[in-house]
Amino acid sequence: MQCFETERLEMVRTQIAGRGIANPAVLSALGQVGRHIFVRDQDKQKAYEDRPLAIGHAQTISQPYIVALMCEALAPDPGCKALDVGTGSGYAAAVLSHLCARVVSIERIDVLARVAKENLHAANCQNIEIVCGDGSLGYPNEAPYDVIAVAASAPAAPEALKQQLRIGGRLVIPVGKSSGCQSLIRVTRLSDDRFETENLGAVAFVPLIGQEAWPEERTLP
Ligand code: SAH
Repeated sequence: MQCFETERLEMVRTQIAGRGIANPAVLSALGQVGRHIFVRDQDKQKAYEDRPLAIGHAQTISQPYIVALMCEALAPDPGCKALDVGTGSGYAAAVLSHLCARVVSIERIDVLARVAKENLHAANCQNIEIVCGDGSLGYPNEAPYDVIAVAASAPAAPEALKQQLRIGGRLVIPVGKSSGCQSLIRVTRLSDDRFETENLGAVAFVPLIGQEAWPEERTLP
């Protein structure tokens, strides 16, 4: 099978480093994960284009730049534990797995969770656990986390996710409307009950559907 190394390195150079992502570990992770493994068969040739792609069930694999931006904002240490909310194709979890010691990734649609498991196996990622459930409630069994990445937008940062952060830990999540444009924010847990919030700019994500996010019917046109 084609490994797309030339396309991948070109993607890192132009779309990621070229747009200001400077963390060498993040650039290296994006350079190592084969995005073509995480897209549908008919999209393999488009895997390194600068855009999200459909993965079925009205969901998308995130644009590579957005995955890099979130990873850079999370600034994971090699020894850290990450929670990835919204597994989708598994691509962001795979990138995080190169930056962290362990990744727990949670997806609400079981078919996607199953396909993601196969993709991650094909990408040879071994330090990831995929679970199926409502990630707006986090995954308390494995908490606390050093970093939490959320790949779907919520009305606000869910309290459950904030409470599952280690002191000093970072949560990156798009907040705002359920469709269209949102703000990507970083929440840092300063102490037991103090959190700092920073706005990282405008983004567009699919909605986070769950108990501490949007109810399912709110997302219908
Ligand atoms: N990180 C993914 C992007 C997936 S898009 C990738 O790299 O491919 C966002 C995903 O969030 C979708 O798969 C959607 O089903 C999932 N999602 C939405 N609400 C969720 C929730 N409450 N818990 C877990 N996953 C959720």
